[in-house]
Amino acid sequence: MRLSALLAPTLREVPSEAETISHKLMLRAGLIRKLASGIYTYLPLGWRVLHNVEKIVREEMNAAGAQEVLLPALHPAELWKETGRWGIYGKELMRIKDRHDREFCLGPTHEEVITDLVRQTVKSYRELPINLYQIQVKFRDEIRPRFGVMRSREFIMKDSYSFDRDEAGLEKSYQLMRKTYQRIFDRCGFDYVIVDADPGAIGGGASEEFMVLADSGEDEIAVCDGCGIRASRTVASVAAPRQGEFDHNKLPPIETVKTPAMKTVDEVAKFLKSKPSQLIKTLIYEADGKVVAGLVRGDHELNEVKLQRALGAQSIEMAKPATIQKVTGAPVGFSGPVGLKGIEIIADPFVLDIADGITGANAPDAHLIHVVHDRDYKPNRIVDLKLADAGDTCGTCKTGKLSLKHGIEVGHIFKLGTRYSASMKAEYVEEDGSSKPFIMGCYGIGVSRIVAAIIEQKNDKDGIIWPAGVAPFGAIVIPVNSDDPEQLKAGESLYETLIGAGIEAVLDDRSERAGVKFKDADLMGFPVQVVIGPKTLPKGEVEIKLRDGGERKVVPERELLACVRGGLSARSPVGKI
Ligand code: ATP
Ligand code: MG
Repeated sequence: MRLSALLAPTLREVPSEAETISHKLMLRAGLIRKLASGIYTYLPLGWRVLHNVEKIVREEMNAAGAQEVLLPALHPAELWKETGRWGIYGKELMRIKDRHDREFCLGPTHEEVITDLVRQTVKSYRELPINLYQIQVKFRDEIRPRFGVMRSREFIMKDSYSFDRDEAGLEKSYQLMRKTYQRIFDRCGFDYVIVDADPGAIGGGASEEFMVLADSGEDEIAVCDGCGIRASRTVASVAAPRQGEFDHNKLPPIETVKTPAMKTVDEVAKFLKSKPSQLIKTLIYEADGKVVAGLVRGDHELNEVKLQRALGAQSIEMAKPATIQKVTGAPVGFSGPVGLKGIEIIADPFVLDIADGITGANAPDAHLIHVVHDRDYKPNRIVDLKLADAGDTCGTCKTGKLSLKHGIEVGHIFKLGTRYSASMKAEYVEEDGSSKPFIMGCYGIGVSRIVAAIIEQKNDKDGIIWPAGVAPFGAIVIPVNSDDPEQLKAGESLYETLIGAGIEAVLDDRSERAGVKFKDADLMGFPVQVVIGPKTLPKGEVEIKLRDGGERKVVPERELLACVRGGLSARSPVGKI
């Protein structure tokens, strides 16, 4: 490819809309352009990287025995109604109607569609296990599309689904995918960790996420310095404090105090000259239509995933103001557990440790002081609800301390069990003639997100540093002055040599200043730069610069191929497993 003909509109300026390094560099290096919020076009360089990532994914999935298919992006609503997700999935699901007024959605994930396919085509235990995958566009109407292709509304995912006879089979399929994912992410050159995760809207049992470590990552990972466990912050368990080391009888009786228009923990604590940690924060939720109260210490945050899990609910949301008024008798901001009747109260253990508490009075503009657990209120259940913070004691080993790191979720694997096969009656015939539901697993990789995640980890002040395995081109040949016919001719000949040897190369034949060419080559991040200049050309030499590390060396032209190949393999994490 000649750079003069390549559609790679590089930018000198940093685009104002871009917050993260990868988003800035993908725009600046001419990899993508925006069509609308969260919707992007891949230009030739971006598409080539995407294609290379897909190739790695395909090779490893095929090596694991998975079979590639292509499922439709347009799904009839009936299928989603069979599993109940038409109702549960919410606003992220892009819903449309056809000319006959029939409802459809644009697939955000394909459990329903694959389960429908397999219930029609796989009949016997003899055909199991089977693992089917696709690399396809997905649609999610994200509430906050951002960071370019990192969180977009239309993106490319590799999704695969395993079907087994029993739990032991699922375990095997799951572990094989886990290993396959490790190979894929190693080949992408990632520094990543595998964490325990929340299955979210996909549902099912256990799940793990693959997190690329990056400060810009939207996900938080809790890491224990004792047992080493790593978990998504959304599920990380926190050890309960020791309880009951105080004498309830010494506490004065409850008193009601006026707290006009003071709704937040900080306002109330300041007004009553106490600390937020003395407050019992009472949050009213609706879980699958049932109203519940969750109690956490005033300075802690309630983890909704933990509450949802404790309730075994499909969906959970903060109760609406009218519901809060109805169950507590007070507007938002004045709820409390004392005298709260008719709804389940679930308390985090830290709350029980508050010796002299403050909480809403379930009456407008009023709080209660001198509140203590047991004497004044009794929760129905005590459950770890605290959102893990750095410095918390690990809930798994009960001794180590947690720290928080940021990560980008590039993959997610789930044990689904019969979550979909049971509701969709997807069954096969067992050896003994009985019908059994398939035991399923599902496994996703954010293919387009990987492109951005690689850049987050592989960049410097000058631009992108592509690992050789995903680079849009392995080498760029740069005649310092393309207007010098000798240099251009030499450049063309070296470029042909590289192409002839099967190395993907690009020739910078533009009539640009040398400085511009070097800047663009660095920005676009090709792993090897081959420079032809007035000093080296007469001697039959070329200068080679490796983008990662930046060493330059002058070598005789005949060593070109060996040097470029060496540069590509030495710098490439490909095959490092
Ligand atoms: P997130 O928590 O980031 O929204 P998710 O848990 O909703 O991700 P999954 O349903 O597990 O995502 O999808 C599989 C993979 O698809 C994710 O691991 C991620 O890499 C990718 N992915 C999910 N949502 C997006 C998006 N909006 N844009 C780009 N990639 C995405
Ligand atoms: Mg999501």
